[in-house]
Amino acid sequence: MELECLGASGEVGRSAFLLHTDKKIMMDYGIKLFDESGTAKFPVESIDPDMVVLSHAHLDHSGCLPMLSKYRWYATPPTRDIVDVLWKDSMKIMGEGLPYTLADYKRALKKWTPLLYEQTIRTGETEVTLHDAGHISGAAMVDIEYQGKRVFYTGDFKCQDTFMHKGADYYEDIDILILESTYANREHPKRSDTDQILMDNVYETIDNGGNILLPSFALGRTQELIATIRNYDKEIPVFVDGMGREITRIYLDHPRYIRDAKAFRRAVKSVRMVSGIPDKKSATREPSIIISSAGMMNGGPILNYMFHSNAQSKLIFTGYCVEETNGWLLQHKGYIIRDEEELHVDLPWEYLDFSAHAGRADLLNFIKHANPEKIILVHGDDTQGFATELNEAFGYNAIAPKEGERIRI
Ligand SMILES: [Zn+2]
Ligand SMILES: [Zn+2]
Repeated sequence: MELECLGASGEVGRSAFLLHTDKKIMMDYGIKLFDESGTAKFPVESIDPDMVVLSHAHLDHSGCLPMLSKYRWYATPPTRDIVDVLWKDSMKIMGEGLPYTLADYKRALKKWTPLLYEQTIRTGETEVTLHDAGHISGAAMVDIEYQGKRVFYTGDFKCQDTFMHKGADYYEDIDILILESTYANREHPKRSDTDQILMDNVYETIDNGGNILLPSFALGRTQELIATIRNYDKEIPVFVDGMGREITRIYLDHPRYIRDAKAFRRAVKSVRMVSGIPDKKSATREPSIIISSAGMMNGGPILNYMFHSNAQSKLIFTGYCVEETNGWLLQHKGYIIRDEEELHVDLPWEYLDFSAHAGRADLLNFIKHANPEKIILVHGDDTQGFATELNEAFGYNAIAPKEGERIRI
C-alpha cells in the first residue's frame, strides 16, 4: 500500500489523503481558509480516486470535495446535510476564489452515498468502515482493511464525553495509524472545571447588567454551548445568531448523532433563535448570553453585538483563533479591523478551552491501545516534534510526512 499526503501534513488545514490499495481511496478533501499570507490553499493535486470518504463536515476536511464531483463519495447523513450549508456559504463568501463552480457543487451533492457508523462498504478487496469520532455530529474515523492489514485514519476526534457527543472508543490491533495531532503538546483542562468558570462568568456579568458574548463556530461549538449552559441553568435568556441556527436545525434532524437528543431538543426550544432586528435589539437590551458566529470574529453578527453591548459585558472565546483574524487581534493587540479601520475594544475578555479534539494524554492513550507498527502524524503544527518524541521516548515508529509526500506502507 501507499499513502499520498496531499494536505494537513506539517500543518492544520486542507486534510486530504489518498490511500492506494487495490483501489484508490481518497480520505477527506479539505481547504485551508487562511494560510500565513491570508489566502486559501487547496490539496496538492492528485486525481482519479475510485472512492471518496469524508470523515466529517468541517471545511478543513470537506471544503474542496466539490472539485471531485465526478466521483461517488461516502459520509454519514449529518455530514452530507452540513457540508451542503457550508459549501453554499463558502461560495457566497469566496466566490471566484474557490476551485469549483456552482455546477460542481450541485453535482457533488448528487454523488453522496450514505455510510453509517459501523457499516462496512467493500470495493475490490478493500473494506471501509466508519466509527463515531466524538468530534461533531456525524464525524467519523475511517477504518480500512486490505489483505489482512488495518489502516486507521482518525480524522478529528475526541475521547472525552461532551454534552453533545459520547467520546470516541479506543481500538486495538491497528497496523497503520494516521493520527490527528492538533493537541500533541497540550492538555485540556477538565471540562467540568471549564464549565464552572463559564457559569461563574455568566452569573457575575448578568448580575452586573451586562451581556456574555460568545463568539462561536456555527458548527459544533454553538450546539455544545447551548447544551452546556442549559445543563446548568434553565432560565437565563440565551440568544443564538448566525449560521449556528441553521446547523442546530440540522443537528436536530439527526437525533441519533446526539448523545442526549431529548435534552438538546429541550435546550434548543428554550433559547431564542434570533430572526430579525427586534430580536437583535432585545438581545443586548437585557442581561443575557449571546452565542453568535463567527468564532474568530471575522464576519457574522457577533461584531454588531459587541458594539451594542454595555460596558458591563464580557467576551468569552471558546475556540482557537487563527493569527491575524479579528479574534486573534483582539486578544493580542486590543483591536479589531472593520471596513479596513482599526477599532479599539475595551470589553474584558477571556479564553476558555472547549476544544472538540483529543488532548495529549488521550492521543498517547489512543496510540497505546492501537499499538500500531507505524504511526503517520497529520493535522498538527509540530508533527515532527511529536514524531521524534514518540520514537525516542516511547519506542514507536512514527513519521511526520511533508506536503505531497508518498509513503510506502
Ligand atoms: Zn474537525
Ligand atoms: Zn480538522
